[in-house]
Amino acid sequence: MKISLLLLIALFVNMLTVQCTQQQMQRQVFESRTVVLDIGHYYAPGRGGQGARTPDATQGGALEECEFWYKYAGEVKNVIERSGYKCLVINRGDTPTDPALATAAKRAGVIQVRTPQPTAVYLSRHHPKRMAVGMLSADYALDWKPAAVIFLHLNSDSDTWRVSNKGAFYCNKVGVSMAIAMAEHLNRTIFNRSMPNGGFPCGVIVRTDGHKGGGDWLNTCNDSWVPALITEVAFLSNPLHARFLNNPDNARSLARSIGEGAVRYLRNR
Ligand SMILES: [Zn+2]
Repeated sequence: MKISLLLLIALFVNMLTVQCTQQQMQRQVFESRTVVLDIGHYYAPGRGGQGARTPDATQGGALEECEFWYKYAGEVKNVIERSGYKCLVINRGDTPTDPALATAAKRAGVIQVRTPQPTAVYLSRHHPKRMAVGMLSADYALDWKPAAVIFLHLNSDSDTWRVSNKGAFYCNKVGVSMAIAMAEHLNRTIFNRSMPNGGFPCGVIVRTDGHKGGGDWLNTCNDSWVPALITEVAFLSNPLHARFLNNPDNARSLARSIGEGAVRYLRNR
């Protein structure tokens, strides 16, 4: 009798402690004014960016997603910082050897997150049941106790040209309202305006399965109550999107729109 009562008390105390920690973590995220932007994939000297590429250079030039975001992440950062938030840009590889990309990286203040093997799977330091290639970036982002983490990518669903209109923000559970705010903003400013998308709006897809795209980065952020999303809003395999992205003015406006969408979310939290 006595033992079962003690057990009950211990369980209750444990429950309260878990709840307290959870509330503390949620408050910390809510009060944070730091946004981390992670440039997806990495740059290999001599081979270039190691993300998705356009099938060829016929739509105004060849594009690769890591190189694209080395060029334009600074635009996203500027919008966020001008709105009074701190913004860090990170990438898990070394600084690009391409001089133009190296200059852009310097201008954006890109922090190279030390990753001994950029293609290896790492366990999360914050939540060791989570693992993925690129996890050290997600861990580094969480070290900053951020309000949000944005993984900068471009999508591709084919090795040849194919018009796809399923661009979306892939978000974690606690990032749904951020993804919706950002998708709404892109629909007002980019989708079916400067960027042709067959009348389809920007989507929002919740990802909780680490085996699908994005590995466990979204989950490890979710475990810390940090809204996170992957920007898969344009397709390098879509000739219309590639033509759009190859125009630097369009690329900058897409980047700025992503920053503005994030700020809209942060201000209305
Ligand atoms: Zn990618």
